[in-house]
Amino acid sequence: MQKIIIVGAGPAGLLLAHYLLSRGNYQVEIYERRPDPRSVEQSTQRIFPLALQTRGMQAIRGIPKLEEALTKEGIWAQGVFIHRKKGEPRKVKRKNPSLVIDRNRLTLILLQELLDSYDSNLVRVKFDCNCVGVNQADQTLTIQSAEENFLVSFENLVAADGSRSQVREVLASQGNLHCQQEFIPDVYKSLFVSRVSPDKTIEFGGNVLHTWTIARGIRLVMVPQPDNCLHGTFIFPPDKNPLENLTTGEAILDYFAEKIPSLRPLMTLEDAEAFRQRPVSKILTVKCDRLNVGGQILLIGDAAHAVSPSIGQGCNASLQDAMIFAQVLDQYQDDWEKALPAFTSQRLEDVHALRDLSDYTVPRSKWMILEMIFHLTLGKRLRPWFPQIFRPLPMELIMEEATPYSEVLKQSQKWISRVRNSMTS
Ligand SMILES: Cc1cc2nc3c(=O)[nH]c(=O)nc-3n(C[C@H](O)[C@H](O)[C@H](O)COP(=O)(O)OP(=O)(O)OC[C@H]3O[C@@H](n4cnc5c(N)ncnc54)[C@H](O)[C@@H]3O)c2cc1C
Repeated sequence: MQKIIIVGAGPAGLLLAHYLLSRGNYQVEIYERRPDPRSVEQSTQRIFPLALQTRGMQAIRGIPKLEEALTKEGIWAQGVFIHRKKGEPRKVKRKNPSLVIDRNRLTLILLQELLDSYDSNLVRVKFDCNCVGVNQADQTLTIQSAEENFLVSFENLVAADGSRSQVREVLASQGNLHCQQEFIPDVYKSLFVSRVSPDKTIEFGGNVLHTWTIARGIRLVMVPQPDNCLHGTFIFPPDKNPLENLTTGEAILDYFAEKIPSLRPLMTLEDAEAFRQRPVSKILTVKCDRLNVGGQILLIGDAAHAVSPSIGQGCNASLQDAMIFAQVLDQYQDDWEKALPAFTSQRLEDVHALRDLSDYTVPRSKWMILEMIFHLTLGKRLRPWFPQIFRPLPMELIMEEATPYSEVLKQSQKWISRVRNSMTS
């Protein structure tokens, strides 16, 4: 039995635990900073929905019963409605539906399935355990719990502790890997409303995503949930907070009545007040020059490659890491000394390509946004007759296929360069 220590019980760490345990020759111990989600009420402060497409779902399907369990708690979205201030929304249909699920529900199901499938001799998840130090020479972690600080020895360690990874911080500070970290130029606030207005006269589609562009850099994405709610993120530049001077729930309602009139009837004063009080969250991106340190330490998920959520791929790629690492273990008969550097060789180009795609697929300039909408709607229908003019945009290649990110980037260089130039000019 090979014992693996994982820091972080998010989507990446939990799915990797499933893959390792399914091999039959592993024991897994996970340390998670947050409390056990089975025993605490989930806060609505920082929860947000995720959309999983082909890549993430392929990784989920590698573990029996997971897709079935997730489908019960999510919604299959068939496309996107791009809402306008007046008139009918533009409809963008997707060839393959996305599974939309709240991040915390996803992790709760991954956790429950893990604990239901394996004996406690094989898997232990320790909550309220914050990793505060890594000593590579001694091969120990320092864990801080409510009662004490203690050491955990490891032979093999996986950093799956998200974009602000403590394990990565320590490794980078010791020069074991190089890593760039940047906040994206947007911040967000979570919004929750019912999908049906209180008087039942207005109902939003329950199997599509809904988006609005309110002004340059200010957007809203709302996602249906199984409980007949819409969960969403209101995104804006930190120096242009449109809500800054709105000090009451009524002022928020007036703002929505003016800027997003179609959504206003769904919003109660309570929703507006809760939205006003929620914190503004920042998103950190991470680019590392490798995904392993020797044959001992592996970095996966946001700890290794956090990206902007603009194209919704961070979790898809994090789940894919777990599946791809299991394939690498197959190739190297579970020899971590060989498998870890091989994982970096196979995966790094794709996760770096994902970074460019996340930064430069969605334009910010008004004209390019209109061009993108035109391509995704009318252009798509004209494509059979004019394939050279209406080539698929990176968004379509990302959403509808499982083509490696590096291949999508190669095929989309022209669009990506134009968006990059429009942002720097
Ligand atoms: C607003 C928003 C919308 C998004 N939408 C999408 C989408 O539609 N599709 C998509 O694919 N992706 C989306 N993403 C990205 C997605 O949320 C992440 O890529 C994904 O959650 C990464 O999973 P992870 O397990 O690597 O990290 P995380 O989800 O961050 O999990 C890391 C875990 O490690 C724990 N941890 C952290 N530090 C420590 C420590 N020191 N000790 C112990 N435990 C620790 C944390 O508590 C956490 O549970 C979105 C992100 C945001 C912010």
